[in-house]
Amino acid sequence: MKALVYLGPGAKALQERPKPVLTAADDAIVKIVKTTICGTDLHILKGDVPSCAPGRILGHEGIGVVEAVGAACTSFKPGDRVLISCISSCGKCDYCRRGMYSHCVVGGWILGNTIDGTQAEFVRIPHADTSLYHLPPGVEEEALVMLSDILPTGFECGVLNGKIEHPGCSVAIVGAGPVGLATLLTAQFFSPSRIIMIDLDDNRLAVARTFGATDTINSSKQDPVAAVMKLTGGVGVDTAVEAVGVPATFEVCEAIIAPGGTIANVGVHGRKVELHLERLWSQNITITTRLVDTATTPILLRAVTARKINPASLITHHFALDNILDAYDTFGRAAETRALKVLIAA
Ligand code: ZN
Ligand code: ZN
Repeated sequence: MKALVYLGPGAKALQERPKPVLTAADDAIVKIVKTTICGTDLHILKGDVPSCAPGRILGHEGIGVVEAVGAACTSFKPGDRVLISCISSCGKCDYCRRGMYSHCVVGGWILGNTIDGTQAEFVRIPHADTSLYHLPPGVEEEALVMLSDILPTGFECGVLNGKIEHPGCSVAIVGAGPVGLATLLTAQFFSPSRIIMIDLDDNRLAVARTFGATDTINSSKQDPVAAVMKLTGGVGVDTAVEAVGVPATFEVCEAIIAPGGTIANVGVHGRKVELHLERLWSQNITITTRLVDTATTPILLRAVTARKINPASLITHHFALDNILDAYDTFGRAAETRALKVLIAA
């Protein structure tokens, strides 16, 4: 089968690889229908993720059709159309029993990291009963690829951790990439009075306005801290979501958070950031971090089925698996190509 293989920092290739086989009784083999590329895949290609070794098939998102299941897999059968979660979970360990699937002792984020992933014609999914979801009927299937990772990530790490649950609260989201936009979409379940998007790219800010942002700030053209303070009467926001993963954007969040507020970190950080406790110690704020658990995938599937949100709006480009190198190029040059999520048909 064809697969996109990581060959070490800066190197990748579309290669011919053996089709995966069942190796445990709770495995399933899934024929990929659609997959996509995540910002995390670009981090791997930069060499930022040492757990991912050269030779690994990348990808942790996708939908597909079950090809085969092991004897212990009872919830799925060949022919079932499924959503693949970016987080594999055994459902049995202490972390899984607490709903913290991201830290499953035999799972977590392993797909396209420590085991072969979804940017291929077939993938082996361990612990299939608790790592796959049946696709709901009557929904545009390709939109559901957004539920493998970015929608639960935006919702759990940004909206729920950020306590955006009080109608009328004020929110700033720093970073209007796919996950920042997924946070914007799912924040609106709770009717914030104000959602301010901050980014360097006017195109992404324009998209954010069509997705429901009330205000946008281009931080390459104006000081984002001064602009947020002006918009909020000098108070700051109740929730600041960091969806970039660099020190400067985290420091923006520290500077715009209102007393009693929550800074929800979503970004993948490769470097330490400055924590301004000399100013924040008395401000009753909370700082949260999280690796997505995908514990909310069932309710997000229902929300999409009921058309409460439209994740298809995040898809900007389509490619065939044969052209996945072009898809990486397009996704990697997002500012020029205006790419958000690129969909790849296997
Ligand atoms: Zn991802
Ligand atoms: Zn577990």
